[in-house]
Amino acid sequence: MNREELINFADNTFIKYGIKTVSPTDKSKGAYVPNIQQKEVFSIMNIDPFERRRDIVIKELFSSNMLTISYYGSQREGSDRTPEIRMGLSDLINYFEVDDEILFATDNVNIFIYNLSKLESQSIDSDDSEEKLYSQINIYLLRQKVQTLNTIPTQVQREINIYLRNNALRALVKARANYSCEMPDCDYIAFEKENGEKYIEVHHLIPLSEGGEDSISNTVALCPTCHRKIHYSQNKGQLKEILEEYIGSLE
Ligand SMILES: [Zn+2]
Ligand SMILES: [Zn+2]
Repeated sequence: MNREELINFADNTFIKYGIKTVSPTDKSKGAYVPNIQQKEVFSIMNIDPFERRRDIVIKELFSSNMLTISYYGSQREGSDRTPEIRMGLSDLINYFEVDDEILFATDNVNIFIYNLSKLESQSIDSDDSEEKLYSQINIYLLRQKVQTLNTIPTQVQREINIYLRNNALRALVKARANYSCEMPDCDYIAFEKENGEKYIEVHHLIPLSEGGEDSISNTVALCPTCHRKIHYSQNKGQLKEILEEYIGSLE
């Protein structure tokens, strides 16, 4: 997901959001001065900076991190100007560097924060990132959002290259596994397909798209869950090593 896509998401989803670039004094004084839109995020959530100095727990987008921050009105000594609203605490101040762009947003239940300079290291798959963001939004807002969407799916045409299936090899891998999952310690029991064949999936240890061979030593039989895990789980690297070791031991 890039900056434009995130802003588009924020425009269409959050009740209110605001983005501000961190100034040198925000960082050096340890007191971030929010802009007007960001103040509105807090006022929508009924957080009054003048009530008392309070600490608030906010959530980071794209992660499970929580930050504890303060939100308060600050009056300079001997000054008759209206007090300025500031935000502080180390969770917040350590979260950014000067010139980073900080987003505060609310979905009416939570306050979210995100440092837009992190976007470059975010997953490149935009659909995946968007799903992650939606998973963080409260379910009432999500329901409203879905109700406004067209129920007829959008179609796009694209040209793709696919690899032809080597069905003989697939059959051989399945036979080697005896239609069980080759992930050590998995206790998958195959169900039967309409044609009576037991259901098991075939996975390439080194993807064909990365130059992997379509050979028996580069393929494993996996149950649907283990197959998804090896592609998408947090510890897919570890799972891959376990599988590689197992396949290596067969030869
Ligand atoms: Zn696979
Ligand atoms: Zn399995």
